[in-house]
Amino acid sequence: MSGSRNWTLSSWRSKPAAQIDRYLISHISICRTSSTQTVVLSKIRTLPPLVTPSEIQRLRYQLSQVQRNQAFLLHAGDCAESFDACTHENISAKIGLILSFSLILIWGARMPVVRIGRIAGQYAKPRSNPTEKIGDREVFSFRLDPNDRSPDPERLLSAYFHSTTTLNYIRGLLTSGFASLHHPRDWSLTHVRSPALREEFERITEGLSDALGFTRTIGFGQDSASYENGGGRGTLGEVEFYTSHEGLMLEFEEAMTREFPIPSSLASTSRSLVGNADPSTPKVHYNTSAHFLWIGDRTRQLNGAHVEYFRGIRNPIGIKVGPSMAAEELVRLLDIVNPDREDGKVTLITRYGAGKVETHLAGHIAAVQKSRHPVIWISDPMHGNTLTSSGGLKTRNFGTIISELTACIRIHSECGSHLNGVSLEFTGELNDEGFSVTECLGGSMGLSEEQLGLRYQSFCDPRLNFEQSLDVAFLISDHFKK
Ligand code: PEP
Ligand code: MN
Repeated sequence: MSGSRNWTLSSWRSKPAAQIDRYLISHISICRTSSTQTVVLSKIRTLPPLVTPSEIQRLRYQLSQVQRNQAFLLHAGDCAESFDACTHENISAKIGLILSFSLILIWGARMPVVRIGRIAGQYAKPRSNPTEKIGDREVFSFRLDPNDRSPDPERLLSAYFHSTTTLNYIRGLLTSGFASLHHPRDWSLTHVRSPALREEFERITEGLSDALGFTRTIGFGQDSASYENGGGRGTLGEVEFYTSHEGLMLEFEEAMTREFPIPSSLASTSRSLVGNADPSTPKVHYNTSAHFLWIGDRTRQLNGAHVEYFRGIRNPIGIKVGPSMAAEELVRLLDIVNPDREDGKVTLITRYGAGKVETHLAGHIAAVQKSRHPVIWISDPMHGNTLTSSGGLKTRNFGTIISELTACIRIHSECGSHLNGVSLEFTGELNDEGFSVTECLGGSMGLSEEQLGLRYQSFCDPRLNFEQSLDVAFLISDHFKK
């Protein structure tokens, strides 16, 4: 594994680390010198992995299919999770929306969809400014209770347990029929008010039910039937799902990174997990807190601590690519994190902004093509398009989001490349009366500036609501329709 040349689990500690010296995030506080933190991290090191190497390898394999245009990648969820929002309603609404979105893509584009949620660990956030002024006080940045911002390393442990409970519930949902394609109505959109959107979705679910009924009649799909009855794992009715977060808090990521024998195949990986692997097999490191981790646009310095940490792990990784990235810098970054040019390893998540995508994307594509680095290209049309409403709320305009996304699809095809997926901040959350959140402007529901304040619930970046997300899904699915 030349990817790990001169790398150790703690080699990042000798590099300059952006964004982690203070505490920068909603609920996790870092105080790098505290003895409590040392105790907390030792405890985390002994706790079991959240995900397994064989799951991570499976995702890498599926991402290599995405890279070959045989599947589409959907990366989506909240900008940031919070401990308070870790409820059964929120988790099932999020999974339901991811499933509905992917169903529209599968049906329209006739392509499998690889689903990676920003979930079960997306607690840490970078901040543009380390401090902010509240009244006459200068406090560490974050839009939560200004009286509750003292560093508290115990929150790292809470993050571990909230991730565990979230993931446990997701696994439960996915193995008990919630995601079964035989019951898409269970996770459909009874609350959606737009008749056109509802009709369109219902047309798809009816088509799907017919198709599944037909395969059953001609003798396929028995596995799915037994799966529905609580039997073994099925095929048609089964949905795979992976977790991700930004790899920001390197102390936490290090504590969750464990050594395992190198997998010669998935079968040998599972053997190694029950402890009878050949002890002479070389070892590799997996971050076991999520299947997929990404480097943020503020922490991707070539000589920085985050890049150093990321180059040593076997997980598939994402890199946010914004307008400040020079084309040659991007190629040098790929040389560092993927020196062996392995398939399915690196996903480039471009986020320029609708006004800048024309200037930057083609140059980045050309540089990567010339370098012959294998990459997956996905578009994050959210992070370059944030604005402040006249009422002072952080928002995004649906039209601008679509404009960056469609420009990406077009520029890739003009450059002989292909857009392999999308990265979105969205939520299926509904309030008690069954209404969606109101954080982004526009979409088929025509959300106006005056309506933004009605149900603005995000405590970080503004998210597309259920209806706006399905609008995006239909748009992508129409683009890729064969
Ligand atoms: C994010 O994905 O929430 C984020 C902060 O993105 P970026 O690093 O691209 O700004
Ligand atoms: Mn965000």
